[in-house]
Amino acid sequence: KKLGVALLGLGGYASGQLGPALQETKHCYLAGIVTGSPSKVPKWQDKYNIPDENVYSYDNFDSIADNDAIDIVYVVTPNALHMPFTVRAAEAGKHVICEKPMEISSDRCRKMIAACEKAGRKLQIGYRLRYESHHKQIMDFAKNETYGKIKVMDTNFSFYGINGSNWRFTDVSLSGGGPLMDIGLYSLEATLYGSQLKPIAITAQSYKSIPDKLPGMEESIFWQMEFPEGVIANCGSSYAARSNYFRVSTEKGWYAIEPAFSYGGLKGVINGESMNIKNHNQQAAQMDAFAINIQNDTPVIASGAQGLQDMVYVEAIYEAAETGKKVRV
Ligand code: NAD
Repeated sequence: KKLGVALLGLGGYASGQLGPALQETKHCYLAGIVTGSPSKVPKWQDKYNIPDENVYSYDNFDSIADNDAIDIVYVVTPNALHMPFTVRAAEAGKHVICEKPMEISSDRCRKMIAACEKAGRKLQIGYRLRYESHHKQIMDFAKNETYGKIKVMDTNFSFYGINGSNWRFTDVSLSGGGPLMDIGLYSLEATLYGSQLKPIAITAQSYKSIPDKLPGMEESIFWQMEFPEGVIANCGSSYAARSNYFRVSTEKGWYAIEPAFSYGGLKGVINGESMNIKNHNQQAAQMDAFAINIQNDTPVIASGAQGLQDMVYVEAIYEAAETGKKVRV
């Protein structure tokens, strides 16, 4: 049986990526929607053939507990709403996929994990690239030491321009931070699964050239991570640059993905030669993997524990940038 997914929060990512991806999934399908905007309902129902009984508002959402057609709630709201909606979904007896960043603090992440554990439900964080073929290749290179030991990692995910009044640029109480929270997280993630190591110390620097914008948030942030055995990572994220790469230098050469973090069109290179890996729908792969985890009761790769771990590192990066001191993690 295909598991039923209800998307909660019908904004840019749900409309542009997740709705379409759920037309390609094999183990789950778009069964329902949860939204605070009644005006969005007819279009979604029409486009995806969603029956009335699977449409919820934020007010009546808890009654989703009585709906057997919905197995998974996918939380796609602004970051600081991930915790309350994840807790409500778990309490309604549903498995949960929650978008990245998991939340805006490690404490809030712990509450989400506790709620899912208490309900006996699985939790996945929307780290689509942990299910993507180029990124899985570099994980295997690290596990197998295909090119020898990793020495240095370089990565940056940035875009240029702050567009409009979206919460991620205007409301730190919802975003929890600037580009680090939004896109820098991808670079952080890549250094972790790309090395299969855990950092031991972090230094960081943040900058802002536009004091009247991004209230309470950084515009650019650069951070360095030390891993065991002298492995280092040099990372950056900004709303004032155009970068999208992950590079790994090893004892026996180098490999890279560039663009590394886009929804498609990723290009992998090993010592100058193409990796020759096909792109595929990342979100479909991510959601299908979760559906299989539920059906077979197997561990989730992009787990809540991983989301929490990343948030602990994010907090350390911000602390290092604020204090100018090296932070041990
Ligand atoms: P968005 O602003 O386009 O959509 C957010 C949705 O939440 C909107 O439909 C909005 O109506 C709803 N919402 C509910 N309560 C709200 C409130 N109090 N204030 C503002 N909006 C509210 O944002 P998005 O780009 O779709 O991002 C949503 C989440 O998905 C974020 O956590 C983001 O980090 C994540 N995301 C992940 C990826 C990825 O590649 N994994 C890509 C984009 C976004």
